[in-house]
Amino acid sequence: MKRMIRPVLAAALAAVMTLGAGLALAQSQPTRAITRIAGDLYRFQNNFHYSVFLVTPEGIIVTDPINSEAATWLKGELAKRFSVPVKYLIYSHNHADHIAGGEVFADTATVVAHVNAMAHIAGEGRPTAIPDITFADRMTVALGDKRVELSYLGKNHSDDSIVMLFPDERAVYAVDFVTVDRLPYRDMPNSYLEDWIESLKRLEAMDFDILTPGHGKVGKRADAGAHRRYVEELRAEVLSRMQAGIPLEQIQAEVTMEAYKDWGAYDKWLKLNVAGMYRNLTVYRRGN
Ligand SMILES: [Zn+2]
Repeated sequence: MKRMIRPVLAAALAAVMTLGAGLALAQSQPTRAITRIAGDLYRFQNNFHYSVFLVTPEGIIVTDPINSEAATWLKGELAKRFSVPVKYLIYSHNHADHIAGGEVFADTATVVAHVNAMAHIAGEGRPTAIPDITFADRMTVALGDKRVELSYLGKNHSDDSIVMLFPDERAVYAVDFVTVDRLPYRDMPNSYLEDWIESLKRLEAMDFDILTPGHGKVGKRADAGAHRRYVEELRAEVLSRMQAGIPLEQIQAEVTMEAYKDWGAYDKWLKLNVAGMYRNLTVYRRGN
C-alpha cells in the first residue's frame, strides 16, 4: 500500500512545487509598458508606478526613473525606439520609490529637482543620481523645439513635489499628491495637509487638459478638483468630530465619505485616510 501512495504523493508534491515556482516567477516579472499620452509625450509603467517622457529632435526628457532595473529597461527601450540620447532627468519629488535608479541615465542626462529635494536625496542617501540643477519656484527645460515647464506649488505630499507641464501636449505629470478616482495613499504619510489643499487649488488653476499621475489611471484637469474636494471634505468630517471630543476609533466608524465609495482603494484606505487626517489635525490644530 505504501508503495502505491508514495509515487502519488511525490507527483502531487512535484506539482505543488512547480506551481509554486511558476507563481514566484510570475510575481518576479514586473509589469512594464510604454504608452503614448499625446503628441510626443509617453507614459512609462513599472508595476504600480508611472512616469512620463518627452521625445524631441534633440533628445529625450525622462522623469522619475522608479528603480534601477526599471530605468535600465526603459533606457533599452528608448535606444531601440528613438535615435536621440536622454538629455534631462527630472525628479517629481524625493521619495525613493519614484526616483531610485537615476544613475542609469546620468551618463548623458542633466538631473533636475526642486531645491528642497537636495537635502533628502543627498542627506538620506537616496539610491539615485544627485541633482545637477535645482530650482525654487519655476524653471523651463527647453530641448529641440519642445519645452517642459516645472512649477513648485507648495508643500503637499512632500515638501519638494513639482508639477511638470508639457504645454504642446496640454498635459501635466504630478505625483502622489493627486490621483484620479482613487483615495490618497494609506494614512497620507510625510504630508502637509493644510498646504496640500492649497497646492491642489494651484494645480486646478493651471492650463492643461490631461492629468497623468504617478499611480493609477490618467485623467483630466477636473480630477484635480475632485481630489481637492475629497481632501477638504475628509478634513471637515474629521475636524468637526474632533471638536466634539469624539475619539479616533469612533470617527473612523462614522466617516463614510459615501460620495467617493466608487473610488479605488475606498475599502482598503478610508480608515487609514481618517487616521492620517486625525494625526495631521492633532499636530496643526490648537484647541481651547
Ligand atoms: Zn511619494
